[in-house]
Amino acid sequence: MKCTVGVDIGGTDIKLGKFYGDELVKEMRIKTNKADKGKYILDDVFKAIDELLEKDELEGIGLGIPGPVVDGHILGCENLGWGRFDITSIIKAKYPKVKIKVLNDANAATIGEWAYGGGKKYSSFVLVTLGTGVGGGVMVGNHLVEGVSGSAGEIGHLKVNIGNVRKCACGLFDCLEQYASATGVVITANELRIGRNTKINDYSDEEITSKLVFDLAKEGDEVALEVVDEMIHKLALGLSIVSSVINPEAFVIGGGVSKAGQFLIDKLEKKFYSYAFYTIENTDFKLAELGNKAGIYGASYAVRHQEV
Ligand SMILES: [Zn+2]
Repeated sequence: MKCTVGVDIGGTDIKLGKFYGDELVKEMRIKTNKADKGKYILDDVFKAIDELLEKDELEGIGLGIPGPVVDGHILGCENLGWGRFDITSIIKAKYPKVKIKVLNDANAATIGEWAYGGGKKYSSFVLVTLGTGVGGGVMVGNHLVEGVSGSAGEIGHLKVNIGNVRKCACGLFDCLEQYASATGVVITANELRIGRNTKINDYSDEEITSKLVFDLAKEGDEVALEVVDEMIHKLALGLSIVSSVINPEAFVIGGGVSKAGQFLIDKLEKKFYSYAFYTIENTDFKLAELGNKAGIYGASYAVRHQEV
């Protein structure tokens, strides 16, 4: 059968999925070998693709990578040790008859959620992933917005505080991801729990996670609620700014922190409207639906629908 393969390259592992049309029929996961500036990664991916294929005929490869991409060129990917290069030509040399599409990983996930998941009925929406960091992707008029240097949708690095309080891995201070990611929630919890009467203090440093804070907040722990409110405040601030620029139909919230579910969505929606410009009134807030498979779904879709 004819198939496409969606590949999602992450800093720790690489996910691959084989698709018959829209249907995911087989998955594979391999470790990311970052040795020698990541020079083995693509060969490992090629080997995995060949193994996944079995007797099927390969029509296309869609690939998501954790760095900025413009027109199929990687503009640098520190996470993997990669510099700037024309990745599409390298894949093309190995698979000359196959369609290739290379995307930023958050953008691949955005297309996945738009084609199959939480963003399905929207022509314009913003995917917000709340994980170890904060990522995002933007669809406007059924098209992915990559930006002139591949930076559209990098909402994790919106500046949401002043005073150089929290340093970000990007080199700037007070980026949204320092407050609204799982990591950011833990930092805030450790600031606010000191000397306070809260169940957070019953746990060891390693046990204090974003999930724990949200669980305690749902039980009514006052300090945990303050931590959540601070996270929601910063996130709503960031999203209200995004709204004033593109006024999307919806924000679709994914990533590990989004497992807090409707509790998070309800608080976020309420806070968002208290910050957003008054004409912004019909913005939906929804949970993402594809989890960590959004990337392979989106990469595979994008190679079959190059118009996206
Ligand atoms: Zn940053």
